[in-house]
Amino acid sequence: MSKAQQHDNFINGEWQPASDYSTNTSPSNLDDVIGSYAHASTDEAEAAINAAAAASSEWARSGLEQRKAVLDFIGNELIERSAEIGLVLAREEGKTVAEGTGEVYRSGQFFQYYAAETLRQMGEFADSVRPGVEIEVRREPVGVVGIITPWNFPMAVAAWKVAPALAYGNAVVLKPAESVPASAWILAEIISRSGLPAGVFNLVMGSGREVGEVISTSPKVNAVTFTGSVPVGRHIAANVMANMGKIQLEMGSKNALVVLNDADLDLAVQCAINGAFFGTGQKCTASSRLIVEAGVHDEFIERMVAEMAKLKVGDPLAEGTQIGSLANEAQYQQVLGYIDSAKAEGAKLVAGGEALELNPKGYYIAPTLFRDTTNDMNINCEEVFGPLACVIKADDYDHALAICNDTEYGLTAGVITQSLARAAHFKREAKSGCVMVNLPTAGTDYHVPFGGRKNSSYGSREQGRYAAEFYTVVKTCYSKPY
Ligand code: NAP
Ligand code: MG
Repeated sequence: MSKAQQHDNFINGEWQPASDYSTNTSPSNLDDVIGSYAHASTDEAEAAINAAAAASSEWARSGLEQRKAVLDFIGNELIERSAEIGLVLAREEGKTVAEGTGEVYRSGQFFQYYAAETLRQMGEFADSVRPGVEIEVRREPVGVVGIITPWNFPMAVAAWKVAPALAYGNAVVLKPAESVPASAWILAEIISRSGLPAGVFNLVMGSGREVGEVISTSPKVNAVTFTGSVPVGRHIAANVMANMGKIQLEMGSKNALVVLNDADLDLAVQCAINGAFFGTGQKCTASSRLIVEAGVHDEFIERMVAEMAKLKVGDPLAEGTQIGSLANEAQYQQVLGYIDSAKAEGAKLVAGGEALELNPKGYYIAPTLFRDTTNDMNINCEEVFGPLACVIKADDYDHALAICNDTEYGLTAGVITQSLARAAHFKREAKSGCVMVNLPTAGTDYHVPFGGRKNSSYGSREQGRYAAEFYTVVKTCYSKPY
C-alpha cells in the first residue's frame, strides 16, 4: 500500500505515524480497499489524552467567536463536500450513497447548530436568602472528553458528540469504531484546518479493547460519551465511575411500531419499511417489532410483503439502490444466525430470510419479515441490528401498548393511528425516550434532545441544548458586592 493511502492518527495538532495499521475494506464490495488506517497502541492513546489535557485550559478560556468560527468552518465544509464524503462513508459502511450523503450533510448541521449555540451560553442569577448577597450560576467546560463511537453512523455520531464538546470549551479524544475509520479521519482532516489550537482535538484510531480501554480508565479524561452496545457500555461506565468521571451512554434498542385498526395502512407500511429496512436496519432507532392490532393484521402483512418485493437491494453506489449491505462480516453472520433462531423458535418467515449473492460481492441480506411471533421470543428481545422485522399480533390498543413497553430497552416507539385520543395516550404512556406518531421510529432532528430509557441510555441527553448538561459543569458563585 502506498504512503498516500496510509492514514495516521491526529495527535497534538500533528499527523503521527502509528506503530501499526489495518486495512479498511468495503463490506458492500469486498474488492474495494478504502485505505490503510492507523491501529494505535495504548501509548499512542496515552499521548492523545496527554495532549488534550495540556490543551484543555487554553480552549476553556477561548473567546466565543473563536469557537463559533471553528465550528462554522467544520460544518460548512461538511455540507459543501457532503456528496464526495458521503461516497466514502457509503463505501466503508455499506449504506447507500444517498444515506451516506445525508449523514454527512446532517453532520455539518450539528456543527452549524453548535456554532450558533456558542453565543447562547447564558447563566442564571439569583438573590441570596442572605440580604446583600448575590448568586451567579454558571456553566464551565468539563475538561477532557473521551468520545467512543460505533460503526453504524460513522460520521453523524462523532459529529453530534464532537461539536457540543468543542462548543462548550472542552478538549477531545475521539476513538471511532475500528471497522469505519475513514469517515472519522476525514472529519479530523477538516478539523485540522479549522483553526483549532493544537491538542484540543485528537483522533486515535484503534481497537476498543486497547484504545477504548485506555480512554475509559484514564484519570485524565473527565467525561466519556459512548454510543454502542449494552455490554461494552456497562464495562466502560464501570471504568469511568472508578475515577468518578462523567459518563453518557447511548446503546441498543428493540423499538416497536404499533399499527392500530384505524391506521392509514399505506402510511403504516411506508413507515414500517422505512423504519425496519432503510440503513439496512442498522439504526439504533430501527423498528424491529411491528405490533399490529388484530383487525388489520393480515392485510398489513399482505401489503408489507408486496411492498418489500419492490425494494431495490444491492450495490450502495449504484443509482436507485434503496438498501445496501450489512456493515461488516460479524454483523452479517449475526443476522443470519438470528434468522435461523427465529425459525427454530416458531416464527413464520413471510419475506426474505436469506443471504444475497450479488455483484459486487458483499455482505447482503434480503429484507426479512416474520409473522406469528410473540414478544417473549428471543428474536423480539435481543437486538438484531439488520434488515429484519417481526410482526406481533395484538388483541387491542391496550394489549399493543403493553407489548410495546414490555422490553428491556426504550429508545423510540411509534404509533400509526388516526385517533387523536390514542395518539395522545401513547405519547404519555410509551416508556421510551422518543415517541413518533404517524412517522417512522427512525429519523430524528438535530436541535432537540435525543436518547432513551432503561437499557437504551444512561446519563443526560445528547443533542440540542440538553447536551450542555453533559459537556459542562455547574458552578455557583456567591458575592457581597457592597
Ligand atoms: P460496540 O461493540 O459496543 O462498539 C462501540 C464502540 O466501543 C466501538 O468504537 C468499539 O471499538 C468500542 N469498544 C469496544 N470494546 C471496548 C472496550 N472494552 N472499551 C472501550 N471501548 C470499546 O458496538 P458496535 O457493534 O460498534 O455498534 C452497534 C451497537 O451500537 C448496537 O447495539 C446499537 O444499538 C448501538 N447504537 C446505538 C445508538 C444510540 O444512539 N442509541 C446509535 C448507534 C448505535 P471497536 O469496535 O473498534 O473495537
Ligand atoms: Mg464492535
